[in-house]
Amino acid sequence: MKIWKTYEDYISGNFLDINTKDSGLPYWRDYLFVITITYIIPFSLIALIPGIIASLLAGFYAILVFDVAAVILLALIAFSRSIPTALKKVLFICIVYVFAIIIFDALGSFGPGLVYLLAVSIFMIIIFPERLAFLSVAINIVFCTLYGINIYFEFFAVHPSDEFYLVSWVAISSNLIFLNGMFSILIPRVFKGMQDTLNEQLLLKNELKSNQERLEESLQKIQSKNQELETFAYTASHDLQEPLRMITSFLNRLETKYGPELDDKAKQYIYFAVDGSRRMKQVILDLLEYSRVGKEHISEEVVNVQTIVEEAFSYIENNMETEHVTLHYSGLPVIKTHRVLLLQVFQNLISNAIKYCPEDRSPEIYIRHQETHTNWEFSVADNGIGIDEEFFDKIFVIFQRLHDKNSYTGTGVGLAIVKKIAQTLGGDAWVTSEIGKGSTFYFSVKKEKNE
Ligand code: ADP
Repeated sequence: MKIWKTYEDYISGNFLDINTKDSGLPYWRDYLFVITITYIIPFSLIALIPGIIASLLAGFYAILVFDVAAVILLALIAFSRSIPTALKKVLFICIVYVFAIIIFDALGSFGPGLVYLLAVSIFMIIIFPERLAFLSVAINIVFCTLYGINIYFEFFAVHPSDEFYLVSWVAISSNLIFLNGMFSILIPRVFKGMQDTLNEQLLLKNELKSNQERLEESLQKIQSKNQELETFAYTASHDLQEPLRMITSFLNRLETKYGPELDDKAKQYIYFAVDGSRRMKQVILDLLEYSRVGKEHISEEVVNVQTIVEEAFSYIENNMETEHVTLHYSGLPVIKTHRVLLLQVFQNLISNAIKYCPEDRSPEIYIRHQETHTNWEFSVADNGIGIDEEFFDKIFVIFQRLHDKNSYTGTGVGLAIVKKIAQTLGGDAWVTSEIGKGSTFYFSVKKEKNE
């Protein structure tokens, strides 16, 4: 098997100028020719070498010369690298034609010579371009006519069995021409069908490739735009802090120094201005935090998620009213991840669960986890006000809030940070909720390969 494969590769390696696959039908014509040669070499050697020995012993020198010449020419076709493939094809067809004629001479018109005439024309139809398909019919018509004339006039000595058999020859050869004509119509039709299908496939392949290229290009553009935006957000929020600090400090000084002289209206204006700048500071800090996600290179470490949840909650306790809050969790896993990022996610989700709880209810928060083949999936479920399904996506977009600042404080950045962190960690964040009953926020992180 291996020897045959090596032989096959070697023979096809000798046809250096054959068409490439992209050319469609011309490639397949060349391919079929190479395959024909690959198989014909061992087969014909089996037939020709005993033929050479037999004709030498019997003194049939014409056959001997042909057999030797055929072996040499076939070897040239198969092993030469300098002869162009088109010429090899012509040589091959000539050999088979001569073979057919010799068989005619040796065995007469009722012998296998006719079969060879048909075979050679089928070879021609297959390996030559379509416009030459009828050439083989023409050659066979000419040959059959000449042979018929010769049977009648006996210019050359014909096989003894052919003498006076002109009528039989006309009947046989017209059948040959008939079959020949049929094949020269049918085979190119099949080939044309093949070519059309190949062209369609090629077209689809090219279309797919160009679509993919365009997609990649757009993706790259989006990525670079995103990066630009993030850099802008980072620089802007960073640079805005300084003037804001100045505004706040001068407003405070104004109040301290001129407080007694100001009337209530003026004091209220100062209060609004200070409150505004305080909120702006929060927005800037949140924006900075958002744009920092994924920028800093924090290394991964093995963390106990339960400890992270507790740490997040103790941070929240320092900043919010948490007296009536009950946190339920158990059996949270130990995973390898970016500790600070995970802490940030739990802080945001737990503080939202507390914040968005109706005043007449005590917040009940359940933290659960699930392990899939590739991810760790965590959920934070609350018994809060709930979210309408139409806002499930919107709330994860930066600065998108469903409430005004008087109902619930906030900047609309928390969930955007959660989503960005989850995506940075190879996962995602999403929500399910029922208005009035509560929400469950999910986020996933990709597992380490060795987890
Ligand atoms: P913020 O809380 O600062 O407004 P977030 O990005 O954390 O910003 O949340 C966006 C919006 O999603 C909130 O304004 C709120 O309407 C809604 N939301 C977030 N968490 C919850 C929750 N647990 N229950 C109900 N609504 C929520």
